[in-house]
Formats: sequence, C-alpha cells, structure tokens
Amino acid sequence: MLISISLIGCLASVIISIFIGISLAGTILNLITTAVLFLTFYISVIKKRKKAASYLISIAISTILFPLLFLTNGGIFSGMPIWLTFGLIFPWMILNGKSCYIMFAINITAALSCFVIQIFFPDLVLKPETNNLIVTISVDMAQVLIIVPFIIGTAIKYHNAAYEQQLIKNEIQEKKLFEAIKEADRANEAKTSYLASMSHEIRTPINAVLGMDEMIIRESRDENILSYAENIQSAGQSLLSVVNDVLDFSKIETGKLELIPSEYSVQQLMNDCWNMIIMRAEKKNLLLEIRNSPDLPSRLRGDEARVRQIIINLLTNGVKYTSAGSVIMTLSFRYTGKKEIMLRISVRDTGMGISPENQKNLFDSFRRIDEINNRNIEGTGLGLSITKQLTQMMNGTISVHSILGSGSEFIVEIPQEVVSEQPVGVFSENRRQATAEKPKYHERFQAPDARILVVDDVKLNTDVIKGLLKKTKVQIDTAYSGRECLGLVRKNAYNIIFMDHLMPEMDGIETLKIMQKIPDSPNSSTPVIALTANAMLGAREKYESSGFTDYLAKPIQGDQLEVMMLKYLPEALIKTNFDNTSDAPQDGLFTQSELPELDHAAGLEYCCGDEELYLRMLGMLELEPKLHQLESAFRDADWKTYERLCCSLKSTSMTIGAMRLADAAKQMEQNTHSGRLAEIRAMHSEFIAIGRGLKKAAGNYINSNTSSEGEKY
Ligand code: ADP
Repeated sequence: MLISISLIGCLASVIISIFIGISLAGTILNLITTAVLFLTFYISVIKKRKKAASYLISIAISTILFPLLFLTNGGIFSGMPIWLTFGLIFPWMILNGKSCYIMFAINITAALSCFVIQIFFPDLVLKPETNNLIVTISVDMAQVLIIVPFIIGTAIKYHNAAYEQQLIKNEIQEKKLFEAIKEADRANEAKTSYLASMSHEIRTPINAVLGMDEMIIRESRDENILSYAENIQSAGQSLLSVVNDVLDFSKIETGKLELIPSEYSVQQLMNDCWNMIIMRAEKKNLLLEIRNSPDLPSRLRGDEARVRQIIINLLTNGVKYTSAGSVIMTLSFRYTGKKEIMLRISVRDTGMGISPENQKNLFDSFRRIDEINNRNIEGTGLGLSITKQLTQMMNGTISVHSILGSGSEFIVEIPQEVVSEQPVGVFSENRRQATAEKPKYHERFQAPDARILVVDDVKLNTDVIKGLLKKTKVQIDTAYSGRECLGLVRKNAYNIIFMDHLMPEMDGIETLKIMQKIPDSPNSSTPVIALTANAMLGAREKYESSGFTDYLAKPIQGDQLEVMMLKYLPEALIKTNFDNTSDAPQDGLFTQSELPELDHAAGLEYCCGDEELYLRMLGMLELEPKLHQLESAFRDADWKTYERLCCSLKSTSMTIGAMRLADAAKQMEQNTHSGRLAEIRAMHSEFIAIGRGLKKAAGNYINSNTSSEGEKY
C-alpha cells in the first residue's frame, strides 16, 4: 500500500518537476526513482517478497536516489529536504527490529551528507533552470507539501483501519474462544460426572457379587467352590480397583478428593501392601521384598489409605511390567522437623524399563506406554497419574529412574507427622513373628434380641446384608422402597436402620426426612445409617447434614458392617461371650426331603450351602413354561430346540438337587444329539412326568419352609 501511494506521488512529482523545469539529470533521476518504485511494487505485491522490497526501497531510494535528487533538483532550494524527511520515516514504517535502526542510521547519514555538500560544495548542487527561482521553489515545495503528507496520512489511515479491523476480529475470536472454553469445560464436567455415575452404577452390582461371594467363602466347606469363590474375589477386587481408579480420577479432576489424615501403624501399612501384592508376585515367580530402615517411627499420621494406594499402584506396576527377577520396595526417612519426617518410598523392579522419551509422558492420564507390547497387560493408564496427583496433594514428589530393558525405580517422598518415635524394626522379621495364618471368619458378636431394618430397592443387596449378619442372629426386616420403609417404621421399633441412598421414587434422604416428622415414632432416636455406592464429595458431611447418623460405603464389607453394628447397637443387646469357634454346619432351615425328586443335600451344595439362596432358586425354577416348550418342540419335531431345552433343564435341575430330572434331561439331550428318535419318542412322556413331579415337590418344599409372612429367615 505504501509503495503504491509513493508510486502515485512520485509520478505526480515527476510531471510537476518537468513542468517547473528542473535539470535534465534531475528529470532522469526522477524517472529512475519511478522505475525503482515500480520494481519494488513488483517484488512486494506480485512476488510477495515484502522484506526484499523493503530493503530495496530503503537502500535504492532513501539512501541513493533521494540524495542524488537533492543534488540535481536544487538542494535546499527545492522540495527535496521534505522528500529526504519522508525517506527517513520509511524504515520505521516498513522494517522491524535491528534492520530498522541500521537502515535509519544509513539514511540519516546520507541525508546529512546532502546538507554538508550544500554548505561546503554549493557548486555541486544543480539549481533549476528558471528565471523565477522563488516561484519554482515554491511550486516544488507546494507539490511535495501536498504529496508527502498525503502518502503518510493515507498510510496512517490504512494502519488505523487495519488495526480497528484486527480489534474487531480479535474480539470475535475472543468471544469464540471463550465459548469454546466454556463448551470444553461443560464437556469435561459432563465427562467427569458420567465417569463418576458410571463407576457408581458399576460399584452397586459389584457390591452384590462380592458380598454374596464372601458368604460363599464363609459358609462353604467344599475346596473346589472355595477356590472358585476366591477367584471371584480376586477378579471382583481388581474390577473394583479399576472402578475406584476412575472414581478417584474424576474426584481429583473436579477437586473433590479429600485427604483424611489419621494415625496409622507403619508395620500394618507394610503388611497390607505385602498381602495385596505377594500372590501376584508369586504367580509370576518374582521375588517380592519389603525393606525398611529399622528405626523408622512405628506410628505416623497421614492419609494412610492414600499412602497405601500410592504404594500399591507402584508395586502393582512393578509386578505387572516385570517378567523375571524382583520387585523391591524400600521405606526410609529423614527428619524434616521435630515431629515430621519425609517418608521415602522406593519401588525398584528388574522389568522392561521405560525409554527416556516415554518417561516424559509417564504421568499423563489415560496414557499407556508401548501399547502394542503391553496389550496383554491389563491397565487403564490412570495409576501413575493418580499416584502423582495424590503425591502432590500431600506436598510430596515423585520421580522415576529407568533403563529400557533393565528395570525401573519409582521414588515417592511425602511428609508425614510422627506420632510415635518408637522404631518399627525390620518388617520381614516382624512378619515372621506374627501369626502366620489368618483366622477363619468368626462373628464378633451376637445380638438375637436386636432388630434392624434394611432398606434397599435391590433385593440382592438386602440379601447380602442378611447373609453377612446371619451368624450374629440379629433379626432383620427388609423394605424395598422408601414407602415400604415408612410403613414399617410406624409399626416397629428398630435398633438400627440401614437406608440405601439412591432408590427410585423416594430416595433415602427424602425417606429419612419424612420419617423424622412422624409423630410419636417408635424410631425417633434410632440411628439411621446411609448405604451408598457413591462415596464421592465429602460423603460424611453430606450424609450427616442430611440427618443420617453415619454412612457405610458399598460394597459392604462384613467386617465394617459388624463394626458399625457394634458402634450403634445398645450394649445390653450385644453378646460377645458365646461359642463362635464351632465350624459345624448351621441348623438347616429345611425339613429333610422325603421325596425322591429332590436331593436337598446335593442342591444345597450347589447353592454353596446357602439355604436361603436354595429356597429362592426353587421359587425361581419356573418349570412349567420349560415343560410346555419341550412338549411343543416334541410335537413339531424341532429337535434342535428340544436338545437346547434338555441341556438347560439338566443344569438347573442339578443346581437344585433334582437329580432324577437332571439325569433324565441328560439322557434325552444325548438321544437328541445322536438322533435316536425312537428312544426319544419312547421316553418323552415319562421325562415330562418326572418334570411335573418335581414341580409339585418343589412347591411343597417352598410351602413347608416359608412362614405365613412369606419369609422364614
Ligand atoms: P496402567 O494401568 O497402564 O499400568 P499406569 O498409569 O500405572 O497405567 O502406567 C502407565 C504406563 O507406564 C504403563 O502402561 C506402562 O507402560 C508404564 N509403566 C508404569 N510402571 C512401569 C514399570 N514399573 N515398568 C515399566 N513400565 C511401567
């Protein structure tokens, strides 16, 4: 733009100069200047090489041509001093940084030289060939006075307009950016709350699975079933840990993770870590060692659960990413204050190691490294990110030293308060001295006169609590909705009420609010404990402020449940001196079978000894529709369906101990499979008759083993 205006200005000036009769040399130079301006225009506008054009214009015009024009157009007796001034402004307008100052210095030297020549060698300056010098000079001055401010003014105007346009553009962009940030925030919040609610939804059924499984472990004597149940426990626990990771991650993301400091035993901490990792290490034939400075203070204060989480994350990774050798954790410390130490946790493994490039992204969330080689190793890519964030929340640091192919060492340093300076001793020796075998489950107390109410819309959950408290002999009522609960609390006095938070229609908080307003309620001072699978955002404060006495997080652990019961049951109802060492099976709820259709003992064995479950399975048998389907498949000669139905009947019958039907179904299945149609036709009616006989027997069982209120237990 500047060159275009200068070009126009220059052309105008050439014409006027010819008109006022400047020297021939001056006219030629004017034409050269115009040609150079054309060339600069070409380089800048057509070839888009602005920088080259800027140098060309500054050097050719301001440094060379303008001074020459000064000398040939009349020197100070012309408009050239103003052009020289214009030339001096040029570098400021078109060049940046150092080049601007250098070019300005060159231009000003050239301009000042013109005046030196004018003073000391005036003969070198060619005057216009005119009779009336004053008029000529005035005309020349006047044209420059018009042209130069016009060029500069237009340039400034153009700059202003461009600047204003840019401001408007910036404003629009800022608005867009702001909207985009808001949108991203909203999306992030939605993602976090989705993650939180998903984890909550998943935790609820895991609760039921793990609770039921614990009942199997407690009650079963069958080695096979015990080993299946233990497998369920370990798979369930690892599923739970993934869900917990996601939940923790979303809590950290939204700044809602609270640290809960408490006193803890360092030996216990190391023990827990050992117990949680040793099985995995042994499975991979790895040496797991926990070493410690023997003079480490034995009791510390900090968020034990989170410290444990950090250690477990590092140890789990150590085991996961090591195929041979060892994983060694070392706990050491240094005093940083009178009552404060810097606890140093080092976890070293002889595993695959991490390359220096990958170490940079190690702590990013959802980031798994070397995914192709690690595809068989399960993981979410959240462990280290959570570990780092937890460490930072505790004002600690985490670092890693690793050599690809040789192993890694993760070092965490966190400040902890000292509660007892007594040295903890050597972990491995302490462990050896401690009792090796974990005692089998025994109830802590019995309270046959205590009566509690469990409110949960999912029957499986109330069943879990019933199962977990079975040996305590506590009387348990159940309600499957807030409304049902309100009916029961009006009638009966309870010693404790366990209330699920999230229920359809009326949730736990609403139910509690209405309950508290019941006049002369027999439960006005009954402790109400919230059951929640959502241990998010300051759960304790939330439930306490809603009027709950306490809360229990799902999955409900038998131990925690008993501790909670002991805390809130009236002392007079609690019996702790009773014989709980007997491993003899409990009295059955069922009268012994006199019918050949049903083998009670076999059925119970398949139901893991859980009589209630057995009764429920009988109730859910739904034999009639299956028998109907079998009959119609037989009529239609649809042997494929017939075989499938026999197969399913075989397994359900076995589960409830209906061995006769199971045997018959198995035989019919084999017949169908081998295409022995004659046999099928001969045996079909008898097979169906056995089924009908069982249906009757099961019905009789259910009737004779349930009370008039529907439930005997
Ligand atoms: P993941 O659930 O995938 O284990 P982490 O956040 O715990 O997630 O770890 C992130 C990645 O860092 C892993 O996928 C793994 O590639 C790498 N990593 C972590 N610990 C180790 C280790 N001790 N040795 C080698 N690689 C490791």
